[in-house]
Amino acid sequence: MLVVRAVEDLPQRGISKNDEFRLYLVDAHHHMGREKGHRNTPSGAYDFYTQLWFEVQKQAEQLAEEDRLLFRPVGVEAPALLNQLFESKDSWRRANHGWLVDRTVVFPYTDDYSAPEGPRSASFAVSNDKIAGWTGRAPHSSRLIGFCRVNPRDGEDIAVAELERAILDLGLRGLKLHPLAQLFVDEIDSGPTRSVVKRAAELSVPIIFDTRNIRTVDRIRSLVDSILNDPSCGEAARNLRVIIAHCGMSPSDSKLFEALRDPAILTETSSLHDLDVPALFESAYERLGPKGKWSDRIMFGTDFSFLTVQAADVITYLLSREFQGTLVDAQKILGGNALHLIQKPFRTRMKTSLPPREIYSHDKSHAVQSAFEEFLLREISRGAWDMASLDFMIPPQSTWPSIEAVEKGGFNGVYQDSYLVTLRSAKTEGDLHVWIRRRAGGLLSVALLGAQGSVRIESLEHASQKVGAVLSKALSDNSHLAKSADELVSAFETAIA
Ligand SMILES: [Zn+2]
Repeated sequence: MLVVRAVEDLPQRGISKNDEFRLYLVDAHHHMGREKGHRNTPSGAYDFYTQLWFEVQKQAEQLAEEDRLLFRPVGVEAPALLNQLFESKDSWRRANHGWLVDRTVVFPYTDDYSAPEGPRSASFAVSNDKIAGWTGRAPHSSRLIGFCRVNPRDGEDIAVAELERAILDLGLRGLKLHPLAQLFVDEIDSGPTRSVVKRAAELSVPIIFDTRNIRTVDRIRSLVDSILNDPSCGEAARNLRVIIAHCGMSPSDSKLFEALRDPAILTETSSLHDLDVPALFESAYERLGPKGKWSDRIMFGTDFSFLTVQAADVITYLLSREFQGTLVDAQKILGGNALHLIQKPFRTRMKTSLPPREIYSHDKSHAVQSAFEEFLLREISRGAWDMASLDFMIPPQSTWPSIEAVEKGGFNGVYQDSYLVTLRSAKTEGDLHVWIRRRAGGLLSVALLGAQGSVRIESLEHASQKVGAVLSKALSDNSHLAKSADELVSAFETAIA
């Protein structure tokens, strides 16, 4: 998280000079794997964020000298739970840095090993396996979110089958398509590409398109229209979310904003630098309407390792006087929108037979929660369980609360004490969801259920109306009180035994 400090009183926003705020950052565009001179792994990503933080400070100093800064970046901080996780094992401690960015959406390069292994096999199969390996294991599963790549030119059947394998078997949570690298720029809205995109939307995962010019933005828009207007695409139309990477490299083109008016389309800032940055945000504010949802449509991204510290230009701009939005707008752009895009829990199609149950405890002081977390992290770090994901709960779709000063609690919209963990072990079949939530009146709820089953968790949105009647009933029918942390741990151990 990025800690920023107000340089002066902002009475109309209820902010006093020296108030500090924590912003939660998500990098929506990041590569891992190997392509010619480019190589990157989780530790490479964290090293890069450390470097990016130095660049942010350097730029901020310059802006402050010119009195152009409204919020001074003063530090970076890991969420407490994740700090504890990374400190729980010597080999993980080395990766406990680079916390300017909290979560990273990771996809393959056009890897040296991305070519299909045989005539009927898919491109990127090995790449997708590697992404799942990096993003789906502790401790990196708490920081990385894996997307797959496929090549529509492998043919519709092969590309769709690889997509399904990556999402349903590997548990990847989105799709990256690169029309230039895989040579389908003129076939974005037809044939195999359209089928791949339709299937991804049916599977409820977002699709990010590398986009280098406004002509490609037009093609993407026509693809989206064709799916939304096709009566045979009902399921896909409901869940379709397409991201125009690099803002189509046309940050002030009116056609970009025409596309962004469609609720199914978002964009991402990697490759923008220098004057592109004000051009994008001023145009968005103007064309999407200040009172409208303009700040819902844009996500922060870096495109590391093709691009490096120029991403700092976006961060410092959002902290400057020139930025027309509020801290909430900045928080949505820097992380909230990406979290909303990926608001589905991690899951694969492996069945788990564990029926839902809930253990709750009166825990006003948070002591029971701390003790339970200590137990859970110990089990994960000693390898009794692997952790395929750790996702904090987020506000309901299309809302974001105001950002609290650290002095008043520092809540930024990401619920660091309410989260969903996916556990797996060699002994059990399928993934287990452990859902830890703060409830009203100082109640702590720990729910346990199979990631796949007739009753399951569908959303990371923290709102009782998002839980669903069936899940609510299943949990309350199997709900038990634990009077202490010890009772909670032993009830948990019995439940998963
Ligand atoms: Zn890229």
